[in-house]
Order: sequence, then C-alpha cells, then structure tokens
Amino acid sequence: MDKENLAQNLADIFQRLLKKYGPQHWWPAESRFEMMAGAVLTQSAAWTNVEKAISRLKEANLLSAEAILQAADNALAESIRPSGYFNVKVRKLKALSNWLQTGYGGQAEKLLEIESSVLRNELLSVWGIGEETADSILLYACGKPVFVIDAYTRRIFSRLGLTEKEAGYDHLQRLFTANLAADAALYNEYHALIVRHAKEHCRVKPGCEGCVLKDVCRFDYRE
Ligand code: SF4
Repeated sequence: MDKENLAQNLADIFQRLLKKYGPQHWWPAESRFEMMAGAVLTQSAAWTNVEKAISRLKEANLLSAEAILQAADNALAESIRPSGYFNVKVRKLKALSNWLQTGYGGQAEKLLEIESSVLRNELLSVWGIGEETADSILLYACGKPVFVIDAYTRRIFSRLGLTEKEAGYDHLQRLFTANLAADAALYNEYHALIVRHAKEHCRVKPGCEGCVLKDVCRFDYRE
C-alpha cells in the first residue's frame, strides 16, 4: 500500500470496512460512567464477559462513582468476577471513581468541559489507567476526537504495510490523527470496525480469503 497517500488510503480502508460490516453502534452503554467502567473491565477480557460484569454491577446498583467507592471490595469483586482479574480491577475501578468523585463530584458529564490533552493527562495519572483505557474513555464516554489504538489496530495496519509491528502507541495514533479529520464520530466507527475486522478476518492466523482489504494488503497470505 502506498504510504505517500496515507489520508486517501485510510479513508479507503474505512469505506471498505464500513461497506462490509455496516455501522457498529459503539459504545453500547446507558451512561457515560458505564462506558468508563467498561473501559476498565475490558482490559484483557472478551466483551461478552464485560457485558456480564456490567449487568451484575447494574443489578447491584453499583454503576456510579459514589456507589463504587462505598462498596466493600469483596462485593464489588463478586459483581465484576466474569471480566477476570477482578481483584486488580476492583482497585482500578475504585481509583477511577475516586478521581471522578474528588475532581468532578462523581459527574462524568463535567468531563466534557475539560480540554482533551488536560483530561488525558489526568486520566493517565489515575492508577491502572493506561493509554488505551484513557483514550477509550475520552472517545467513547466523553465524545472527544481521540483515536484509540489497540493490539488489533497494530496487527491490521502492520500487515497492510502502513506501520511497523513494533510501532509505539503514539506513533500509531499519529498515523490516524495526522491523516484523518479530528472527528469523534469517525474515530468511534473506525476503531469499532477495526475490532470487527480483526475478529472476522484479520485474526492472529488471518482468514484472508474474502477479506475486503486483500488487494491492498502486504501480508503474505499464502504462508
Ligand atoms: S488480507 Fe489477510 S492479513 Fe491482510 S488485512 Fe485481510 S485478513 Fe488481514
């Protein structure tokens, strides 16, 4: 794929994926705080298991910063057990809730007023929140135009020949933000489509037959 026309290539890839899979309707949640909790729970977990954990949190009335801070660790751990690594995720949810409660009165809506880079730095200072989780919160819970990078993005775009396998988070993020309009709706859909494509075709062992990107891909799919 031609690296010189990155903007055109990225737009073309998006259109192909959208045509194939249609809108993905991310992030499926009833509140901003639910999206924030989901961004933590999805670390090293399949989304189906995150959904189970979220629904248990809902049943236990634990989907707010205040409720999480008041909950006993073992009760919270029991609710989020399906998402795995539940003891460490209890600490992460409490740290995130403490930050939201202390700085913003527990109101996720207040985050919308804060400038993206300031909010990103704040989130990264919270224990257990790394770049991918912070960016997921910024994009999906706060509607900020921040491109989320994950292992799926790295896998697909290195196979397409648009980045190196070892490229760092910032480098990969710039690939998108420097070549696409700063549009939260576009970033939302693009990332969701990348995840869908990585699950349907561009798996660890890729299923290149029928892939809509095959003619522009540099991966040697005969291997
Ligand atoms: S052709 Fe194969 S390696 Fe390339 S994007 Fe498609 S599934 Fe992935």
